[in-house]
Amino acid sequence: MAALYPEKYIYDVGGFPKVLGRDLVRNLAEQGLQFGAKVCLGERVNALRHFDQLKIIRLTTEPGHEHWSRTVVISAGVGPSRPRS
Ligand SMILES: Cc1cc2nc3c(=O)[nH]c(=O)nc-3n(C[C@H](O)[C@H](O)[C@H](O)COP(=O)(O)OP(=O)(O)OC[C@H]3O[C@@H](n4cnc5c(N)ncnc54)[C@H](O)[C@@H]3O)c2cc1C
Repeated sequence: MAALYPEKYIYDVGGFPKVLGRDLVRNLAEQGLQFGAKVCLGERVNALRHFDQLKIIRLTTEPGHEHWSRTVVISAGVGPSRPRS
């Protein structure tokens, strides 16, 4: 939204009669970061491994960083997804 249509009004976001893409993104970031989440930009996740016994998940990214977490929410948009045949 911020990159493709920052100046476009969006009319279907709950709680907003209309909101600019740029303003919605800014407010989403402010809301999401208010409790101190760590942000890692410019990394592409290319592997995810679940360690059952430790109940922890490892993400591996380009350019070769590792991130460990007990929870992963995948919000990769529609681009990388493919229906199972
Ligand atoms: C011109 C245009 C106008 C639109 N107008 C509206 C509108 O008015 N109202 C409306 O409701 N919707 C609208 N949409 C649709 C809306 O933009 C999308 O539905 C919405 O952005 C989807 O959000 P998302 O978070 O699911 O995915 P995205 O916004 O696509 O975000 C996914 C992110 O995941 C990242 N990613 C993907 N794979 C990886 C990986 N392996 N590692 C790390 N990161 C990864 C991508 O780089 C991207 O930043 C419009 C779309 C376009 C193109």
